[in-house]
Amino acid sequence: MNLNSAVELLRDLLRIDTTNPPGNEEKAALFIQDFLRREGVSSEIYQAVPGRANILSRIKGRLSGKPVILLGHTDVVPAKREEWSHDPFAAEVSDGFIYGRGAIDMKAQVICQLAAFIDCARQGTPPKRDIIFLATCDEEVGGNHGVEFMLEAVPELKDASFVLSEGGSMFDENGSVHAQISVTEKKLSQFIIKASGKGGHGSMPHGDNANEKIVAAAQRILSYKWPLKAMPVTSAYLDGVLENQSIGNMKFPGLKEALRSKEWKNYLERNEIYNSILRNTVTLTILKGGEKVNVIPSESCAYFDSRLLPSETHERFFAKVKKLAGDDVVIERIGEKIPTPGPSRHNTLYFQGIKEAIESVKGNIPVLPFVMTGATDMRYFRDLGIPSYGFFPVTLTKGEHMRMHSKDERISLANIREGLDGCRAIINFLASDRIP
Ligand SMILES: [Zn+2]
Repeated sequence: MNLNSAVELLRDLLRIDTTNPPGNEEKAALFIQDFLRREGVSSEIYQAVPGRANILSRIKGRLSGKPVILLGHTDVVPAKREEWSHDPFAAEVSDGFIYGRGAIDMKAQVICQLAAFIDCARQGTPPKRDIIFLATCDEEVGGNHGVEFMLEAVPELKDASFVLSEGGSMFDENGSVHAQISVTEKKLSQFIIKASGKGGHGSMPHGDNANEKIVAAAQRILSYKWPLKAMPVTSAYLDGVLENQSIGNMKFPGLKEALRSKEWKNYLERNEIYNSILRNTVTLTILKGGEKVNVIPSESCAYFDSRLLPSETHERFFAKVKKLAGDDVVIERIGEKIPTPGPSRHNTLYFQGIKEAIESVKGNIPVLPFVMTGATDMRYFRDLGIPSYGFFPVTLTKGEHMRMHSKDERISLANIREGLDGCRAIINFLASDRIP
């Protein structure tokens, strides 16, 4: 598929509002099905509940069993029109960028994977194993109607040898580019603290104020510094990225050593990406308490979004939070997503093959395993022991990356070209005889 067709296809997909909730991804699934039909490729739609649909298409391999899955999701997070400079669902092109909610997360990748899939289907030689294109719904809200539903509806997916999906990309840090292939992700572990007290008149403080209890407990929770930890994946990543970094005349000594140095610890903590891949993070996101300036509230609460290192357990984490929070508040755990599997290994032939594919389109850049700070549908596959990597071969700066889930999300036309070439190179590898 050429660049223009891919760009128009992406713009059409971005114009389908699949904000989740409520989702309405069936429209996106039908749109993809219609495109595949025009290309002479069959597909099947699996509807979990009305309006929420997944689409699966397949290129038959020479051997049966152990399919390779190109996984994507068609839902997007909400966008507030008034915060955007372009309508988030109009897919306008401006200054070489396509603007739209889902441009990065992850409709562009869905289209590039679809384009590479179609190109592979047109080739004379079939792949060694079936290649499955799967676009699911409901990823942004946990995947119950999407991947979780599909694993039951199509049990063969549980037999996959490999899953490629979202999470990593090529990262441009002040002109120096490296590739991040996400092989694991942090664990979602959100909670609420709640306090109650005696109501009363604001003019007569009595020391039993629900808001004051919440503020004190929140302060203790937030001021705790979770230990910085070097996991094998983060060591491999940071040792690669910071290889030539120095503070003054102190060369980066490797992650393990750096965590023993005050200067390097400061350096790592100040970078919000490094900080969040090295420790558990706890973020206060919602505060609720009080309605009138002269009334002491009797109920109050605060919500925290916390993300744990893959090696952390919920039990250990909450034992510590409980201690920090103290006895004046109760803790309610929410949004705990199970499963929470360990990392996919990165010394695999899949990693090697993708690395070679990246080098074929981007030249010799460091290709490193990465920890995603957010959660994705890949956890369902990793939980089954299936190697699952997050990677979309486009080069993003931190500024572009941060637009994801934020305002003015966009992707450049140059990125789409890279994405098409890169996905094609990766799928050529996944179709080859090197796959088990
Ligand atoms: Zn996503």
